Amino acid sequence: METYEKIAGIIKEKGHVVAFTGAGISVDAGIPAFRGGQGLWEKYDPMEYAEISAFHRDPKKVWTMLREMGSVILGAGPSPAHLALGALEEAGLLEAVITQNVDGLHQSAGNTNVIEYHGNHLRLLCEHCSRTSPFTEESTKILPFPRCERCGEPLKPDVVFFGEPIPTGAVIRANHAAAACKVMMIVGTSGVVYPAAEIPFMAAANGASVVEINVSPTPFTSSITNHYLEGRASEILPAIAGELGLMKRD
Ligand code: ZN
Repeated sequence: METYEKIAGIIKEKGHVVAFTGAGISVDAGIPAFRGGQGLWEKYDPMEYAEISAFHRDPKKVWTMLREMGSVILGAGPSPAHLALGALEEAGLLEAVITQNVDGLHQSAGNTNVIEYHGNHLRLLCEHCSRTSPFTEESTKILPFPRCERCGEPLKPDVVFFGEPIPTGAVIRANHAAAACKVMMIVGTSGVVYPAAEIPFMAAANGASVVEINVSPTPFTSSITNHYLEGRASEILPAIAGELGLMKRD
């Protein structure tokens, strides 16, 4: 039986935690996971909306989805799970967050070393001249889509579309963080999106203890997870932080 007290003890003893997070941590922040019930992929076929070739072919069409997603992200704030990770960093226990999310909520919760494996929706990128600018409420009002101020090309949220590579800097930083950590904490991710899902395996191969917090078992659970806690991240992470004296428990 895994108790919060036991996990808190492991974190305290080993220190140097790296968290690997996915959509599950943002669900309680009001951002539905792409896959499953409320997800955007139920409404928008990823082949038509999330492939980079689809964006280049018809940016106007893809921007109908990007606008909706952007509005959801702009309206969201960090969940108790995000805040717990912020508190762990403040206490000097958490070294880095490697996230597959593009919502910027880890930074909102105070984490300073956030490795964004799939980019960030709140930054717009001109693929032509590489200029970046913030994605704001105003950006969602520009029809048919926002264009680069410098060269007039369509802007794209600086996220990794299907068919695009993971940003090199993120890969290098994530690999380094995974290799160096003593505790790899998997939070809210089904572990089916590659190459991101390789990261916890890398940590395990380097001797890290693997703590997994998920609503249901994943490919990690039966392979590398040492301590599995089933449930919502926004309940479990604050409880662990509470055991460490970092957050007040309800
Ligand atoms: Zn440009």
